[in-house]
Amino acid sequence: MRYPIILNPDERLHRTNRPVEMITDEVIDLLEGLRETMIAHDGIGIAAPQIGKNIQVAIVEVEEGEYLELINPEIIDTKGANRDVEGCLSIPHVYGVVERASEITVRYYDREGDEMEIQAFDYLARAIQHEIDHLHGILFTEKMIEQIPEDQLENYMEEHEND
Ligand SMILES: [Zn+2]
Repeated sequence: MRYPIILNPDERLHRTNRPVEMITDEVIDLLEGLRETMIAHDGIGIAAPQIGKNIQVAIVEVEEGEYLELINPEIIDTKGANRDVEGCLSIPHVYGVVERASEITVRYYDREGDEMEIQAFDYLARAIQHEIDHLHGILFTEKMIEQIPEDQLENYMEEHEND
Protein backbone atom coordinates (compact mmCIF):
# COMPACT_ATOMS: atom_id res chain seq x y z
CA MET A 1 0.00 0.00 0.00
CA ARG A 2 1.26 3.40 -0.93
CA TYR A 3 0.72 6.00 1.78
CA PRO A 4 0.37 9.75 1.46
CA ILE A 5 3.42 11.50 2.91
CA ILE A 6 2.91 13.95 5.74
CA LEU A 7 4.40 17.30 4.89
CA ASN A 8 6.05 19.77 7.24
CA PRO A 9 4.75 21.64 9.16
CA ASP A 10 2.76 18.97 10.98
CA GLU A 11 2.97 18.09 14.66
CA ARG A 12 3.09 14.37 13.77
CA LEU A 13 6.61 14.96 12.43
CA HIS A 14 7.75 16.40 15.75
CA ARG A 15 6.60 13.89 18.30
CA THR A 16 8.62 11.06 19.75
CA ASN A 17 7.63 7.64 18.55
CA ARG A 18 7.18 4.50 20.58
CA PRO A 19 9.34 1.42 20.14
CA VAL A 20 7.82 -1.65 18.50
CA GLU A 21 7.06 -4.24 21.15
CA MET A 22 6.12 -7.11 18.91
CA ILE A 23 6.62 -7.63 15.21
CA THR A 24 3.09 -8.29 14.07
CA ASP A 25 1.67 -8.63 10.55
CA GLU A 26 0.78 -4.98 10.86
CA VAL A 27 4.48 -4.07 11.24
CA ILE A 28 5.40 -6.24 8.24
CA ASP A 29 2.65 -4.58 6.17
CA LEU A 30 3.96 -1.20 7.29
CA LEU A 31 7.49 -2.11 6.13
CA GLU A 32 6.11 -3.12 2.73
CA GLY A 33 4.04 0.04 2.51
CA LEU A 34 6.98 2.23 3.47
CA ARG A 35 9.07 0.68 0.73
CA GLU A 36 6.39 1.13 -1.89
CA THR A 37 5.92 4.75 -0.80
CA MET A 38 9.66 5.45 -0.81
CA ILE A 39 10.13 4.01 -4.29
CA ALA A 40 7.10 5.89 -5.64
CA HIS A 41 8.66 9.14 -4.42
CA ASP A 42 12.17 8.31 -5.51
CA GLY A 43 13.43 8.54 -1.92
CA ILE A 44 16.41 6.86 -0.29
CA GLY A 45 14.77 6.51 3.11
CA ILE A 46 11.51 7.03 4.94
CA ALA A 47 10.37 6.73 8.53
CA ALA A 48 6.99 5.62 9.92
CA PRO A 49 6.07 9.06 11.35
CA GLN A 50 6.24 10.45 7.80
CA ILE A 51 3.14 8.42 6.99
CA GLY A 52 1.49 9.13 10.34
CA LYS A 53 2.52 5.94 12.18
CA ASN A 54 3.79 6.77 15.64
CA ILE A 55 6.34 3.93 15.95
CA GLN A 56 10.10 3.44 15.60
CA VAL A 57 10.31 1.91 12.15
CA ALA A 58 12.32 3.25 9.22
CA ILE A 59 13.81 1.98 5.99
CA VAL A 60 16.84 3.10 4.01
CA GLU A 61 18.04 2.24 0.52
CA VAL A 62 20.79 4.53 -0.70
CA GLU A 63 21.85 2.07 -3.36
CA GLU A 64 20.09 -0.88 -4.91
CA GLY A 65 20.85 -3.97 -2.90
CA GLU A 66 21.66 -1.97 0.22
CA TYR A 67 18.12 -2.13 1.55
CA LEU A 68 17.77 -1.88 5.34
CA GLU A 69 14.71 -2.26 7.52
CA LEU A 70 15.30 -0.69 10.91
CA ILE A 71 13.02 -1.50 13.83
CA ASN A 72 13.80 0.34 17.09
CA PRO A 73 17.18 1.48 15.75
CA GLU A 74 19.69 3.01 18.09
CA ILE A 75 23.06 4.56 17.32
CA ILE A 76 25.49 3.07 19.79
CA ASP A 77 28.74 4.54 18.48
CA THR A 78 29.85 7.32 16.16
CA LYS A 79 33.13 8.42 14.63
CA GLY A 80 34.21 11.44 12.65
CA ALA A 81 32.05 14.04 11.00
CA ASN A 82 31.31 15.27 7.54
CA ARG A 83 29.01 17.69 5.77
CA ASP A 84 26.75 16.96 2.86
CA VAL A 85 23.45 18.00 1.34
CA GLU A 86 20.19 16.45 2.46
CA GLY A 87 16.58 16.65 1.45
CA CYS A 88 13.45 15.06 2.87
CA LEU A 89 10.23 13.66 1.39
CA SER A 90 8.32 15.61 4.07
CA ILE A 91 9.97 18.93 3.13
CA PRO A 92 9.78 19.17 -0.65
CA HIS A 93 12.09 21.57 -2.49
CA VAL A 94 14.23 22.28 0.59
CA TYR A 95 17.85 21.15 0.53
CA GLY A 96 20.67 21.96 2.84
CA VAL A 97 23.99 21.05 4.34
CA VAL A 98 23.99 19.02 7.55
CA GLU A 99 26.94 17.84 9.60
CA ARG A 100 26.69 14.18 10.60
CA ALA A 101 28.92 11.47 11.99
CA SER A 102 30.78 9.85 9.12
CA GLU A 103 30.77 6.41 10.70
CA ILE A 104 28.13 4.90 12.96
CA THR A 105 27.34 1.63 14.66
CA VAL A 106 23.62 0.94 14.74
CA ARG A 107 21.73 -1.63 16.73
CA TYR A 108 18.23 -2.53 15.57
CA TYR A 109 15.79 -5.37 15.08
CA ASP A 110 15.06 -6.86 11.69
CA ARG A 111 11.63 -8.11 10.60
CA GLU A 112 12.39 -11.57 12.02
CA GLY A 113 12.86 -9.97 15.43
CA ASP A 114 16.59 -10.66 15.45
CA GLU A 115 18.83 -8.08 17.05
CA MET A 116 21.30 -6.79 14.48
CA GLU A 117 24.33 -4.55 14.66
CA ILE A 118 25.92 -2.92 11.64
CA GLN A 119 28.50 -0.32 10.87
CA ALA A 120 27.69 2.23 8.22
CA PHE A 121 29.85 4.85 6.56
CA ASP A 122 29.44 8.11 4.70
CA TYR A 123 26.21 8.49 2.75
CA LEU A 124 24.58 5.36 4.17
CA ALA A 125 25.51 6.51 7.68
CA ARG A 126 24.00 9.91 6.85
CA ALA A 127 20.73 8.42 5.59
CA ILE A 128 20.38 6.23 8.69
CA GLN A 129 21.03 9.20 10.99
CA HIS A 130 18.44 11.26 9.10
CA GLU A 131 15.81 8.51 9.49
CA ILE A 132 16.59 7.87 13.17
CA ASP A 133 16.17 11.60 13.77
CA HIS A 134 12.64 11.29 12.32
CA LEU A 135 11.88 8.64 14.93
CA HIS A 136 12.74 11.21 17.59
CA GLY A 137 10.74 13.99 15.98
CA ILE A 138 13.75 15.83 14.55
CA LEU A 139 13.86 17.17 10.98
CA PHE A 140 17.07 17.84 9.08
CA THR A 141 16.14 21.50 8.72
CA GLU A 142 16.66 21.87 12.48
CA LYS A 143 20.31 20.88 11.97
CA MET A 144 20.86 22.59 8.63
CA ILE A 145 23.99 24.73 8.47
CA GLU A 146 23.29 26.22 5.08
CA GLN A 147 20.28 25.98 2.78
CA ILE A 148 21.03 25.35 -0.88
CA PRO A 149 18.42 26.80 -3.25
CA GLU A 150 16.95 24.04 -5.42
CA ASP A 151 18.13 25.67 -8.64
CA GLN A 152 21.72 25.74 -7.35
CA LEU A 153 21.72 22.15 -6.17
CA GLU A 154 23.38 20.73 -9.25
CA ASN A 155 26.14 23.35 -9.18
CA TYR A 156 26.73 22.77 -5.50
CA MET A 157 27.02 19.01 -5.98
CA GLU A 158 29.53 19.46 -8.83
CA GLU A 159 31.64 21.89 -6.82
CA HIS A 160 31.71 19.59 -3.81
CA GLU A 161 31.88 16.20 -5.44
CA ASN A 162 35.42 15.64 -4.20
CA ASP A 163 34.82 16.76 -0.62
ZN1 LIG B 1 13.33 12.90 6.03
